[in-house]
Amino acid sequence: GELYNILGWGEPYFTVNRDGHLCVKTHGHETKPGQEIDVVSVAEAAKEKGVQFPMILRFPDVLKHRLDSLHVAFDNAIKHTGYTAPYQGVYPVKVNQNRAIINDFVSFGHRHSYGLEAGSKPELLIAMSYLTKAKPGAFLVCNGYKDADYVALALSARAMGLNVIIVLEMEEELDIIIEQSSKLGVEPVLGVRAKLLTKIPGHFGSTAGKHGKFGLLADKIYEVAKKLKDLNKLHWLKLLHFHIGSMIPTTDIVSSAAREASGIYCTLVKQYGAEMTTLDCGGGLGVDYDGTRSGSSDMSVAYGLEEYASSIVQAVRLTCEYNGGVPHPVLCTESGRAMVSHHSMIILEALSAIPEPKDDETPEQLHSKIQRLSSNPPPPRALMATDLQKHATDIQKHGVELYKLAKKLSKRIAGDANTIYNYHMNLSIFSLVPDFWGIKHLFPMMPASRLNEKPTQMGTLIDITCDSDGKIDKFIGNVETLPLHPVDPESGGYYVAVLLSGAYQEALSCKHNLFGGPSIVRVENSTGGGIDGGGGGFDIATADRGPTTEELISTVGYDVKEDIRGVIEQRAREKGVWEKVGVFVQAGLTSMPYLVEYKVPRTA
Ligand code: PLP
Repeated sequence: GELYNILGWGEPYFTVNRDGHLCVKTHGHETKPGQEIDVVSVAEAAKEKGVQFPMILRFPDVLKHRLDSLHVAFDNAIKHTGYTAPYQGVYPVKVNQNRAIINDFVSFGHRHSYGLEAGSKPELLIAMSYLTKAKPGAFLVCNGYKDADYVALALSARAMGLNVIIVLEMEEELDIIIEQSSKLGVEPVLGVRAKLLTKIPGHFGSTAGKHGKFGLLADKIYEVAKKLKDLNKLHWLKLLHFHIGSMIPTTDIVSSAAREASGIYCTLVKQYGAEMTTLDCGGGLGVDYDGTRSGSSDMSVAYGLEEYASSIVQAVRLTCEYNGGVPHPVLCTESGRAMVSHHSMIILEALSAIPEPKDDETPEQLHSKIQRLSSNPPPPRALMATDLQKHATDIQKHGVELYKLAKKLSKRIAGDANTIYNYHMNLSIFSLVPDFWGIKHLFPMMPASRLNEKPTQMGTLIDITCDSDGKIDKFIGNVETLPLHPVDPESGGYYVAVLLSGAYQEALSCKHNLFGGPSIVRVENSTGGGIDGGGGGFDIATADRGPTTEELISTVGYDVKEDIRGVIEQRAREKGVWEKVGVFVQAGLTSMPYLVEYKVPRTA
């Protein structure tokens, strides 16, 4: 476990048991005690039941613990600072829209009056349906760009008695809202999204700042307030929202954003007479993927839930005090990543591990190549612009070539100890970890078993898509390989777990090669020691397989029955082979597209 820094990124949810298996520590509650659930036992029990790899294991108990911990953090910060309004958060549906997750958030969040955030019409419809089961008053925050249909839908939700807040993303949306409101005879509650000057560095920072894509600068917000006042509708405006981007690295930035936004909030109250009630601080509560707590990259944040909550509460309290005692707003956040990441892991099955082919060139041959290249290219004949440009391009080309040769040479000299093994995994990166492919986001990865055995091979993970991008060759710590064990199909499966993967990956998943989503297994603590599948202390509550081949084919415009099966069957019958091949066609269409049985190649 130490090798993979579980203590860094995994506390308090993951550990390794005496069998050397990765375990999930669940915390339990009144009726279900906490357990240490052996991930390998779960995966194998699921396999027994016919669930195919790759699979996602979900632990709703961990989800509940995240949600409760966030509330404890805000409740404590509020109590200890004498803040006089409550915390009332929402879950942003976009982060993982899966039905079971939305259902869990609504039911686990009931006692906290926890709500949902929608960024589009489909998400709004999901939220409208599921919030009927939430505590009355739970927020339904409507973000994102809106047309008349979106606004009409949001007003319908208000007419249904849901606590909908329509957040203006652009000034122009106000006109749409005014029109729809009078058409439907439903008064809206409005929020407005502030475009703050506080920015975060790195990939996720482009959301904010003066040139950010979203929201209104402070002056524009005051114009909106003035316009509402002139229309006698200032009482509509209740909420100020901001979201400066995901993965805020430090509490300095959290405080700074909260100070800036609460300053605008206070101005709206004091100078414009707005009857504001709520400050919505958006998402951005980070996850420490690399476990360094350094906040120095897109993979790390330098704080936990407590520091995050107290930074916001303190900043808002002080700003209200500074502005002559503006009543404290209800605090909302839209934390997504920090709520769902931990409760879900992807289990990948290794198909084979093959040493990367060695270079045939000897170190001596490489040496002489390097020598020849180093004295090239010759200097330009004249100091003319075109000659110099050509010379510069030549130098660049030679430099790249030299760099490659030097790397080869050093690998060659280091010898066999540095052999890299390509682990072929039953997975599509595009479907399961799209953020690795899209934004080079790194997740903790480690073997799920044999953790009491020293790993002896350095590996990269290769997927089964026909794409050279379908390869994981960057791991936490920016290293190019992961320490792994030899794969021996005789002694059972070898599994690699991708941790902290519950946020965004399923939502962003794409179906390259028509590989679709994984199987999803919901793992609950067993009640009173009941054991399902021979593991220990767990029940497989549900096991849903991923989309089948025919479902995937139908998403790209085919009528599977006619265009695919029908045509194939007709030709096969003409040739008199349908009796023989029909079963394969049927099996191909009704199974998941991932590999089921495979031959282990012996050589590269
Ligand atoms: N709220 C808004 C408006 C967002 O755009 C996002 C994500 O991009 C979130 C909340 C969730 O952010 P996070 O997952 O960082 O908490």
